[in-house]
Amino acid sequence: MRKPFVAGNWKMYKTVREAVELIDEIQPKIEELSGVETVFCVPFTCLSAVAEKLKNSKIGVGTQNVHWETQGAFTGEISPLMVKEFGKYAIIGHSERRSFFGETDESVNMRLQAALNNDLVAIVCVGESLDQNENGKTEEVITRQMKIAFTNIPKSQLKNVVIAYEPIWAIGTGLACDPLKANEIIKYSIRKPLIEMYGEDVAKEVRVLYGGSVKGSNAKEYFLQPDIDGALVGGASLKPEFIEIVRAAA
Ligand code: PEP
Repeated sequence: MRKPFVAGNWKMYKTVREAVELIDEIQPKIEELSGVETVFCVPFTCLSAVAEKLKNSKIGVGTQNVHWETQGAFTGEISPLMVKEFGKYAIIGHSERRSFFGETDESVNMRLQAALNNDLVAIVCVGESLDQNENGKTEEVITRQMKIAFTNIPKSQLKNVVIAYEPIWAIGTGLACDPLKANEIIKYSIRKPLIEMYGEDVAKEVRVLYGGSVKGSNAKEYFLQPDIDGALVGGASLKPEFIEIVRAAA
C-alpha cells in the first residue's frame, strides 16, 4: 500500500518572515489530516526557521536540490549532510534545474546516489518538454531519464525514492496534463522502467507523483488515478490553497 505523498516546492519564493507566516496559517489544518505524507521543500534561507517551526510536526522539510559530495569547493551548492541538519527530503532533477542550471541525467544520478547514501528521501523529477510531447517522444525521453537517474541505485534504496512526473509544459502554466494521460505516462514511462530495473515487487511500492499546475480544484482527479500517489506542487504550495490539495490526498 503506497501512502499518499504531497510535496510543496517553494522554488525561489518567500523570505523567512513570509515562510513562518504561511506555516503558522496552514500547519494546524494540515496536522488534522491523516493518511498523507506532507513535505515542504523550501529555499535554503528558510530551512532553519521552517525546521524549527515543524520540529514536533508530522510535516517534513526538504530542499530543492542536493550536491553529490558531502563537502568541498562547490560554490552555491548544498551537501546532503547539510540538508540532514534540517530535514530529510530533497528534490532532485527538477526541470528548472535542468533547463536553467545545466543539470543533466548524469548529474541527477550522482545527486541521487549521494542523497540516498546519506539517508535522505529523494524526490526525483522527470518529464518531457512541449516539443518532445508534440513529437511523440514522451515515453522515450522519460524512459531515458529514468534509466540514467537510477544507474547504480540498488533495490534496497528504492524505499527512500519518490518520483515526480512533471511535464515541463504544465509547470506554472495553468495547462495541467489530463489526469488519464498523466496516469498512462506514469504507467508506461516510469513504472515500466522501474519494473525492468528492479522487478515488479519493488517497483509497485515506489510512489509516483504528478506535478504541473496542480490546484485545490483539480488535485482529486489526479489522486483518483491508480498509478498516481500524490503531487509535487509549485505555485499552489505558496498559499493556503495547499491545504485543499493535502486534503484531497488524505
Ligand atoms: C513545480 O514547481 O514542481 C510545479 C509543479 O509547479 P506548479 O505547481 O506551479 O506548476
